[in-house]
Amino acid sequence: MLPLIYHPIYSDFPLPEGHRYPLQKYRLLKEHIDLNQWPVNYHQPHSHKWQRLCELHQPDYVESLVYGKLPLAKMRRIGFPWSEALIERSMTSLGGTVLTVDKAIETGCAIHLTGGYHHSHFDFGSGFCLFNDLILAAHHALSAPGIERVLIVDCDVHHGDGTATMAAGNDEIITLSVHCDKNFPSRKPPSDIDLPLPRNTQSEEYLSAFLPCLNLAFHQYQPDMVIYDAGVDIHEDDELGYFSVDQAGIRARDNAVFALCKEHQIPVAAVIGGGYRTEQTALVPLHAELVRAALATFHSVAT
Ligand SMILES: [Zn+2]
Repeated sequence: MLPLIYHPIYSDFPLPEGHRYPLQKYRLLKEHIDLNQWPVNYHQPHSHKWQRLCELHQPDYVESLVYGKLPLAKMRRIGFPWSEALIERSMTSLGGTVLTVDKAIETGCAIHLTGGYHHSHFDFGSGFCLFNDLILAAHHALSAPGIERVLIVDCDVHHGDGTATMAAGNDEIITLSVHCDKNFPSRKPPSDIDLPLPRNTQSEEYLSAFLPCLNLAFHQYQPDMVIYDAGVDIHEDDELGYFSVDQAGIRARDNAVFALCKEHQIPVAAVIGGGYRTEQTALVPLHAELVRAALATFHSVAT
């Protein structure tokens, strides 16, 4: 059984009418998985203790955000109206990515049905990201026996700017970002490995650039664990991405990442990352590719 990490709160916090954030996709994805009766088991995360975030983020930033005292301009940069439910949702999803690491270490592969807050920096949030779950989870992984280096593979179409700055100078956390060169965020601080690709990049070009880069990262850094942000906003119909990758391209990408982790016998914790469509049901088969790839690679289950 493939471990999936999920909580109903992921699709349950107040947003203004017409907000860009695809709030329902998490619930819809879980319903799709259940309908297909794939061999998975669910693990419900606990809310991460916000006080513990002060080891990772600037304590003033953490406290202001948690208590709703962040200046409005800084809240706007995050892109959500403040609510207690938003904070609880964020803390639960942070606990979720941490739990995904634990389940991945236990079983080889686990998937979090949200996560990937790569635009969250040390002392500010942006682009729908309050706190950086990828960095939190990487530090958590490094506390496990035998894990001395974690590779964060960020395939969301947007550059992993917060992850890059928060892991800068830390040679136990290696960051790889493959992204669109002309897209949010405008400022792209260096990751350990950056692979910027032009607008309208198609599946074949995407894969022929990314796969050698991923192999190189494994070869050069010899990671003991991978945290994989499998954003599907690289899809041709995505409303916030500018690539022209199709669903088969996403499938090939997810399969390749999992295959390489399996070949190297290192655990992989995956998060579903970005994916933006007004018609949120259209995102479900794209995110479901990640689950299908994990079932095929680690459980020999064809779906
Ligand atoms: Zn994105």
